[in-house]
Amino acid sequence: MQQIGSSFVLHGTPISPGLAQGIIHVHHDLLEPIDTPVDIAHSQVEQELARLDFATAGISEDLVVLATRVEKEIDSRLSEVFGSHRLMLNDPSLQQELRREVVDNLLCASSAVKAVFLRWESRFLALESQIAREKGDDMRDLSIRLCNALAGITAHPLDEIPPGCILVASRLLPSDTVFLAHRAIAGVLLEHGSSGSHAALFVRQLGLPCISGIPDLVSTVPDAILALVDADAGTVTVRPKSTQLIAFQRLTKEKAEAYRVARANARRPAVTRDGVTVSVIANVGSSSDTQLAIANGAEGVGLYRMEQAYLGRTTPPDTSELVGEMTQVLAAAKGRSVCVRLLDVGADKPLPFLAFFAESNPALGLRGIRLLRAYPELLKTQLRAVMALSRDFDMRILVPMVSLPEDMAAVKELLRQLWPKETVPRIGAMIETPAAALSVQAIAEYADFLSFGTNDLTQYTFAADRDNAAVEHYFNDGSAVIFRLLRLVHDDVPQMPLSVCGELAGRPEHIAELLRCGIRTLSVAAPLVPIVKEAIRHCSCHPD
Ligand code: PEP
Ligand code: MG
Repeated sequence: MQQIGSSFVLHGTPISPGLAQGIIHVHHDLLEPIDTPVDIAHSQVEQELARLDFATAGISEDLVVLATRVEKEIDSRLSEVFGSHRLMLNDPSLQQELRREVVDNLLCASSAVKAVFLRWESRFLALESQIAREKGDDMRDLSIRLCNALAGITAHPLDEIPPGCILVASRLLPSDTVFLAHRAIAGVLLEHGSSGSHAALFVRQLGLPCISGIPDLVSTVPDAILALVDADAGTVTVRPKSTQLIAFQRLTKEKAEAYRVARANARRPAVTRDGVTVSVIANVGSSSDTQLAIANGAEGVGLYRMEQAYLGRTTPPDTSELVGEMTQVLAAAKGRSVCVRLLDVGADKPLPFLAFFAESNPALGLRGIRLLRAYPELLKTQLRAVMALSRDFDMRILVPMVSLPEDMAAVKELLRQLWPKETVPRIGAMIETPAAALSVQAIAEYADFLSFGTNDLTQYTFAADRDNAAVEHYFNDGSAVIFRLLRLVHDDVPQMPLSVCGELAGRPEHIAELLRCGIRTLSVAAPLVPIVKEAIRHCSCHPD
């Protein structure tokens, strides 16, 4: 039990490594349950409706700007969320319900927003479907924006966070990530967020130490108090004693020195103690990611996500636009091996120029290669762009969401039809569904390499949505179950080059086991490259 004024330690799941010391800044959600809705007179109805329309239009515009910013600066997958937010905000039944609260119930615009969004949020949260529950988070995010706009608050609450603080929050909402990208905060503590969640991906991409899964964090942790975050061990010491502070500072120094050594060695190959060279490459979403990755010793790009070139557009990019976008993002990796993953959207991340499919279980729907097979023109444009880039880069193609051998065969066949005589880039299958892992011999007929997407592989194996806090206990990408699948794949196709590009690849504590499963390439967030290389140097591929 925590005593007032005394030091205490919290435990959670390490999400993004590193040590951080700073003053706690507790970030409360703005949307508290409504206690006293503000009534208006009949004469104010028009004015409140106009305020509502103005705020809605403003937020819609902001969402477009945000999506573009996130795409460029952080990660394409996060930017997809803002497109869906725009659709939700402008949903006719939501808009009607808001207007009814003002016109029929005579609530002011802010009270109407709070009432309606809380209702929608709880409706979504009460539903069984994981996607519906995620939409609960989206509703909260949107309502915070709308309430702020109505109150004339233009800054995001996270805009105000003091530099160097330890941010404490229940969860990171999609829009929060944008505001954190340029803040010099020291670390992040969360109540919710699995290791494969988009929030996790984001903090790793930024190199921010982060621990999640700390129960009741926001209500128990005091604001404005010193905390020591050890995101390697998953512990937080709140209000440390001077002896704890001294020990932590010593540890920080040691780790900083270890990181300095890792960076100094980063351009050297990563060779295990038993002499096996492991390739360390990077997952990139923006040109600054690629620059950092190469500066940190990444030997190439293991995962370029095509999504960023498509999202927020009303028409699909043509080949030359795609080539332009990819050339810009990948410039720093010129001459190296670059693996482009074909477009992985669909389901709950609709592209505005494709029909919106109402799928009851979108994570199991028309996403990744399934969508590309349904729209072969989209696929052709991407293949043409990759082919054009192969003049300057050693290109590879990675196919997302493979679950049947024919998913690979379709891409191979298209490559053959388009370039019957030329040498085409090597092609790999993402192993991110249990079906792909269990039928790998048949899939391997069409693949030059395989890359494990452990984020989705974990989500589909445990039937636990990677972004759903309610089931994060089930999402365990470092579990024996996942390693069993990895080993099985290696045993079934022992000659096949195997890599991991899911978040598991960046967790030093699992690297020895990954190597023992036959993995010889790890693709990780740019800030992690030096420590992953150093960790490899301390491992052996065969047990001693
Ligand atoms: C994965 O699923 O592990 C992966 C790398 O792909 P994404 O995270 O983009 O789904
Ligand atoms: Mg995936």
